[in-house]
Amino acid sequence: MKTFQIHIAGVVQGVGFRPFIYNLACKMNLSGWVSNTSSGVYIQINGDEKVAEQLLNEIIVAAPKKSIITSHSIKEVAEKDFDQFSINESFEGENDDRIITPDYAICDKCIEELKDPGNRRYNYAFITCSHCGPRYSIIKDLPYDREQTSMQAFNMCEECKKEYKNPNDRRFYSQTNSCPTCGINLSLYDYEKGDVFGDSTVLIKKAYETIEQGKIIAVKGIGGYMLMADATNPKTIQLLRQRKHRPHKPFAVMVKDVEMLQEHASLSSKQEEYFLSDSAPIVLLESKKDSSIVLDEIAPELNEIGLLRPYSPLHYQLMAAVNRPLIATSGNLSGSPIIFEDDKVVDELKGIADMILMHDRKIIAPQDDSVIRFTKDDQAIVIRRSRGIAPNFIRNKENNKKSILAMGAMLKSTFTLLYKGNSIVSQYIGNSNSYETQLNYVNDLSHVEDLLDFSADLILSDKHPGYFTSELAEELAIKLNVKNYKIQHHEAHFTAVLGEHQLWDSEVLGFVWDGTGLGNDDNIWGGEVFYYKDNQLKRMHHLPYQKHILGDKMVNETRISALSFFHNISGSKEILRKKFNDLEWDIYSKQYDSSALLTSSMGRLFDAVASVLGIINISSFHGQAAMLLEASALRCKEKYSLSPFSIFNDKNEFELTVLLEEIITAIDNGLSVSIIAARFHHSLVTYIEWIAGQEKCKKLSFSGGVFQNKLLVELINEKLKPKYELYFHKELSPNDESISFGQLMHYLHITSNKPPL
Ligand SMILES: [Zn+2]
Ligand SMILES: [Zn+2]
Repeated sequence: MKTFQIHIAGVVQGVGFRPFIYNLACKMNLSGWVSNTSSGVYIQINGDEKVAEQLLNEIIVAAPKKSIITSHSIKEVAEKDFDQFSINESFEGENDDRIITPDYAICDKCIEELKDPGNRRYNYAFITCSHCGPRYSIIKDLPYDREQTSMQAFNMCEECKKEYKNPNDRRFYSQTNSCPTCGINLSLYDYEKGDVFGDSTVLIKKAYETIEQGKIIAVKGIGGYMLMADATNPKTIQLLRQRKHRPHKPFAVMVKDVEMLQEHASLSSKQEEYFLSDSAPIVLLESKKDSSIVLDEIAPELNEIGLLRPYSPLHYQLMAAVNRPLIATSGNLSGSPIIFEDDKVVDELKGIADMILMHDRKIIAPQDDSVIRFTKDDQAIVIRRSRGIAPNFIRNKENNKKSILAMGAMLKSTFTLLYKGNSIVSQYIGNSNSYETQLNYVNDLSHVEDLLDFSADLILSDKHPGYFTSELAEELAIKLNVKNYKIQHHEAHFTAVLGEHQLWDSEVLGFVWDGTGLGNDDNIWGGEVFYYKDNQLKRMHHLPYQKHILGDKMVNETRISALSFFHNISGSKEILRKKFNDLEWDIYSKQYDSSALLTSSMGRLFDAVASVLGIINISSFHGQAAMLLEASALRCKEKYSLSPFSIFNDKNEFELTVLLEEIITAIDNGLSVSIIAARFHHSLVTYIEWIAGQEKCKKLSFSGGVFQNKLLVELINEKLKPKYELYFHKELSPNDESISFGQLMHYLHITSNKPPL
């Protein structure tokens, strides 16, 4: 009898694909086998070509929800006779199209079993099935099989083996299968008393009692250790802020389920979908006034709160026991990456946590929680792409077989690999200014390279020579004896959004607004407008240059941006002078006069405006001023109907000075801060419209951290959608996380960047 082979590549491992094929083949009375390989799933069956095609069609139509098929093929192979259909041992594939499966939050069926006293996994904090549980964070190598994950340390008991082998079981072929008899062990460490003994119910009870006493506990999650504390207790939150050295940056809050969420925030059906999704991200939602969550302490001066569901069974049990919202923030000191190594955690969280709830399933790849916010029309803005979403690929295949490594920027570092034509974008790794983050960056990169058997033929990095990623790029290029191309930061932002939407055949104007990036003229860019056509980029416009003074101090102290932007604005001196003591004023003024470095940064303009409005003079975390300025504008009731400030001079041309003067006049006239903040947002949209009108281009795209601002995005949509086609990032974040992908797109699609190799 003829034998046909089907090959399917994509996200097809760890999503219940083999059991699905098995059941389908049995239903169709086929004999043969299915097997995982590092390059996807292979199937062989007895039958003619028509039968093989029928099977493939059925697979494509009914594939498991979480799978993503990127390619498939059928071919006839040497005849073999099979007497039944079976799932075969995995084998090494042809190294084609390896794709990594992300972690999945606990599914509804597993939650039911977890709560069911009659179930053998009742209260088992590590319950999983073929459709849920950790994947990327525990994978040591591909193909995805138990021996290649940190589940290797646990041998399945007879009962678990039975489930694993039973095609009708939810855990048929589930690589993470375990139970209280054979599985993962929970343990609890108390900093005062040492190890706490007892079964898991006792330990979880002890943990939630500790939380109820207003203490802080660390809980080992999927991608790392998380600090958890009562979100309704202001004293606890103040204590956590002190211990973490994190005075203002908002904390995320875990709520048990949608019902609990609705006590604290309102939720649209689209937002609910995200909240309940397999990736279980933090969703930023407008908080309710009567919420018992202490908003002033959790998200000072902000109107939104980040909420997420218990994505692991351990979190679920804890939440069910405490039955109140808990702060859920990464276990670390502010500015450091999430802690994930068991042998280090006790030392590293000393003085931060009171207790640690841990377990003996090792985390291989650390991940933070992903964060998403929404405009009022439910347009999602990705703020952080990590657990449950990354590393994954942007779903457009590139026609280039090279292996390219793009190393990203600094503050929100990521890397992107071009691998067999797929772009694989890493999770958010963090601010690579910190030494620990640098270590994580190197580890994450070599882990993914190992998984994919990847070795770069070419390296791309940011033009800024001082970034850790730029320095590492140079080192790697020498080590691997490959070329290293430098790509301008804002151009990479633009090509990232062009790449996400595949706009290579269009004419597009790109607004790239962010804080900092080294420009091609050696000034600090950040308020840029580019034009793209026929694989060429051109910088068309930028925010008028202002003096960039005092280096990084300017980024941290918004009052210095105010000094620079408002320096020559009439009526501003009195406002500015009050922000500095005599000595500072003297030194900074001299710095201003002598500085030659210039900046066109939109982020600094936000800082300057936030400072003159008295919102903030010194930031305690990156992007704080812009967040507060937006929050102030959002609090304004008439925010959508206000008129912009004038931004045009007598010749009807944009002039920044006009806008800045209008702001000072509005302050002098006693207009409220939130009205001025909102009108400032409107003015920026007028500015965009003016530039678009000048360039006569119908497609407008937006990238850069400034476009995390939902009010700005809402106003752009409202005012410009009728006249223009608007392109925002979809799967990627507008912030620097998208730079690595943009570097890759720049290399692949911009002619000027393609010197012969
Ligand atoms: Zn499940
Ligand atoms: Zn078992």
